[in-house]
Amino acid sequence: MDIDLHDYIATTPDFPKKGIMFRDINPLIGNGPAYKQAIDQLINFASPLKPDIISGPEARGFVIGSPMAYEMGIGFVPARKYGKLPRKAVSSSYGLEYGHSELQMHVDAIKPGQRVFVVDDLLATGGTITATIDLIRQLGGIVVGCGFFIELEDLHGREKIMETENIPFIALLEY
Ligand code: IMP
Repeated sequence: MDIDLHDYIATTPDFPKKGIMFRDINPLIGNGPAYKQAIDQLINFASPLKPDIISGPEARGFVIGSPMAYEMGIGFVPARKYGKLPRKAVSSSYGLEYGHSELQMHVDAIKPGQRVFVVDDLLATGGTITATIDLIRQLGGIVVGCGFFIELEDLHGREKIMETENIPFIALLEY
């Protein structure tokens, strides 16, 4: 029987500031069978889209994208926070649910025409994933789909991703 992944999400009110309900995936990734089930579900969705690369933003996108890429036998490309990459990089700025940030990707990380599946732990306003998608497109990559452990429905991030086109989408849990 499938594990109910909801049981592995810890909710903390008023973190990191008042009014925010923080959904913490640490119990999920800290449990072997739950983590494996969640990663396998995302792989089952991503595989038919035939990606060449998995990409995800720092830091929790790495925890999801890396095991997917390893299992699928393809590469993982991190979208890193500003100033962390040693070589020439492209940049994309975005507003967060709380704050502002900038992501970067090495210019040679993705080749034009490569198919990329994008992941992160949680979709809130959609700013982080939109910036990641923007970086991939600056490099000529094709975004073939995106996947999350959690979608915060009230923040309508999915609509932001769907604004210009229908990118195949999966969120394992909705709040
Ligand atoms: P967005 O850019 O507004 O969609 O926010 C999503 C990003 O912020 C993701 O990279 C998440 O890791 C982080 N984030 C926002 N809200 C939460 C939360 O409640 N729990 C965990 N991460 C969050």
